[in-house]
Formats: sequence, structure tokens, C-alpha cells
Amino acid sequence: MAELDRDALKREMTGWRRDLHAHPEFGFEEKRTAGFVAAKLREFGLDDVAEGVGGTGIVGTLKRGSGNRTVALRADMDALRITEQSATAYRSQNPGIMHACGHDGHTTMLLGAAKLLAAEGGFDGTVRFVFQPAEEWGKGALAMLDDGLLQRFPFDEIFGLHNMPGLPIGHFETRAGPFMSAEDNFEIVLKGIGGHAARPHSGNETLVAACALVTNLQTIVSRRLSPADISVVSVTELITDGTRNALPGLARILGDARSFRPEVSAEIERQMRVIAAGTAAAYNVTADVTYSREFVPLQNDADLVDAAFVAARRVLADGAAGIAAEPMTASEDFARFLDHVPGCFVFLGNGEASAPLHNSSYDFNDDGLLHGTNFHAAIVRQRLGGAIGK
Ligand SMILES: [Zn+2]
Ligand SMILES: [Zn+2]
Repeated sequence: MAELDRDALKREMTGWRRDLHAHPEFGFEEKRTAGFVAAKLREFGLDDVAEGVGGTGIVGTLKRGSGNRTVALRADMDALRITEQSATAYRSQNPGIMHACGHDGHTTMLLGAAKLLAAEGGFDGTVRFVFQPAEEWGKGALAMLDDGLLQRFPFDEIFGLHNMPGLPIGHFETRAGPFMSAEDNFEIVLKGIGGHAARPHSGNETLVAACALVTNLQTIVSRRLSPADISVVSVTELITDGTRNALPGLARILGDARSFRPEVSAEIERQMRVIAAGTAAAYNVTADVTYSREFVPLQNDADLVDAAFVAARRVLADGAAGIAAEPMTASEDFARFLDHVPGCFVFLGNGEASAPLHNSSYDFNDDGLLHGTNFHAAIVRQRLGGAIGK
């Protein structure tokens, strides 16, 4: 089969990326984006294109040869409720919504891989192209799994990538085992008796108790968990019903906890309940703790990490593929797929000058597009026994 002209493909992908960027959609509302993806996959001649998987998700299937193994590649499609600061011609046309995490780039790179693999083949087996909704919420992967993703479109292993500001263009990082953290959210409500600011002894206010509790929560990581376990407990909000001359009878403490093992997450919750109850008792108020798990930890399969490095080294410049120095305390919905099927998630450089993810000035760097597409194609050809082209 004829090789696709890579320069032409890059130009075409840049057009897709900027079109998607101009029309960002929030999680589970990716109707235009999903329509765009499905139309492209059909145009490329895939064997099957299923729409509406887990809401707005899409699964494309491409078969070549007679091999019975299946590799899935995944991209995310959703944008964020952030107002874009940009003067580009392709800036967001949807007020208050922008592609501030580069999912427009991820979707485009996976579309590029679908076009490339459909045109060139070079593998023996089945590829699933999984376009998931609502990554930012941590809800889209579960929606696809609950909609029978693994039964209707089974696969043996799955690969995904995320662009990474600060990492040079064409550079690649991943690591075996825990790679990205779980995210838990918590809310602690303290109740006492509010009253006059001038007569604190006549009531039983909650603000001093809340301040003590915020401080005491810092001992979960520093005094209750092993230093070998990376974890974070961040109090992010303290809200009371007090006013300038009235002490609050109610205080709410909200926050976010990160960890890399379910046992650590469970211990953070347990310690939080002990400390909240003890602190509340010391201040004669009550504490009610609500603790929820939003993202699970992302665990990369060691063998598939090795495979990803081999593939990356074949399509990226010498020295561009490295082991990430440490796990990252950010979370990724891709982890839900890895709870069921082995796989590997990787970071690709978005350039050293890139604004951070979720920043209103962020933009995906189109110079990275072809690197992501080439990596997707290379890992498929490697895992499905084809010849790996550049
Ligand atoms: Zn994000
Ligand atoms: Zn993202």
C-alpha cells in the first residue's frame, strides 16, 4: 500500500485541530466533535464506526489480515469551562468554553493514526479507536465501560497519550507502575452555635475549630502515612456563615486528596474521620465528613511500557524517549480502562514555551501532531506484528 505523504497529513491534521479548537464542547456535550470524528473515520474507510457509546463516545474498528489480537488507542474529546485568552483566528467560538487541556490535539492525533493505518495497513489484527467523552470530569471512561465497551468492542490492551507543557516537542515520557494519582474530594461540615462577635463565650462558634482542623489535617501526610507513599491532602476552601460582627455557627472545609494506591486513599479517609471527630470534640462542635473518589490511580503495565519505549524510539529522534522522573500527582480518566485491560499512558511534549494545562492562554502545539500519530501507528504495528515504518 502507498505511504501517506506525512507533510500533507500534518497540514490536514493542523486544519482539523484548529477546527476542533474553535468549537470546544464540555463533557458529554461533545456532539459536534463526535460528529466530526465519526464522519472522518467513515471517510477513511474503517470497518465499523459506532456512535453514542457512553453518551457521546465513538469507537472505530479497523481490521487487517487474519490476526486475532486487538489493540485499542484512546483519545479524549472534551473541553473546559474556561474563557480563552487568545488572538488566534481559530480561538474558541463558544463563550466560556475552551480546549485548555489539548484534547483537540489528542483527538486529531488519533484521527491521523486512523487515516494512516487505514491507508497503509502494516499490521495483522484489529485496532479500536476509542474517542471518549468527559475526561475532565472523570466520568466518560466509566460511561463507555457501563455501555458495554469491553463486551461490544473487546480489546487486549490499550494505549493513550497526553500532551505535556514544558516537555520539548517530539519528546516522550512514561514510567511503569503508578504513573498518575487517584483524586479524592472531601467536605467537612462543622456545626456549633453562632453568636455575637463580642460575646464568643455565649455561643459555640466554628471558625477557630475549622482553623485548628485545617492545621491538624496536615498531619495525615506528615505523620500518619509512610514517607514512601506519595500523597497530598489539600484544603482548598473554608466557607462559614459568619459575618463581620457575627461568629459562624457553621463552617465548611473542602479539599482534594491525591494518592497512588487504594490502600493509601482508604487510610487518608480513615485518618481524616478520626482527626475531624477529635478536633470537633475538643471545640464542642460536631463534624460531618463526606469523602468521594473521583479518579482511580493510573497503573501502567510494565511490559507495555517497554513496548511503548521501543515504538517511541523508532519514530522519535534519538534520546527523545525517557523515563518520567517521578509519578505525577495529577489524575487521568484513562486509569479506568487500565482497571480492566493492561495498557500504557504516555506524555508527549507540547514544547518548553507552552502555557500550563488548564490555563486560559494554553494552546496545543500543532508541531506535536505528527509525533503523536506516528507513535500510535508504531505501537499498533509493533503489537500486531507488522513492519514498523517511520
Ligand atoms: Zn485537563
Ligand atoms: Zn487532559
